Amino acid sequence: MRHRRGIDLVGAGDEIAGQKANEVTFADLPQWYSVSGKCGQCGEVSMLERWELQRRFGKSQQLMPLERKLRCSRCGNGTGNHFVFGHVSRD
Ligand SMILES: [Zn+2]
Repeated sequence: MRHRRGIDLVGAGDEIAGQKANEVTFADLPQWYSVSGKCGQCGEVSMLERWELQRRFGKSQQLMPLERKLRCSRCGNGTGNHFVFGHVSRD
């Protein structure tokens, strides 16, 4: 599913960088991808510290299981949240 502004909303059946989204790890994620979280309730999208997460959980951590840990900074909702991957443009 594509969004305006180059943000991809990724579901478990989608692919990220040629990998199944539900199997992709931090190590698989290209450096120019930014990682945000989107609230399933209010739609708030906020940028996450990808490198911070990677340090905390390790490079071999799969991303999708972490969706359950996302919590909205705006409304506090903790269910139905998703990762959103952005392509940071490299010139
Ligand atoms: Zn929210």
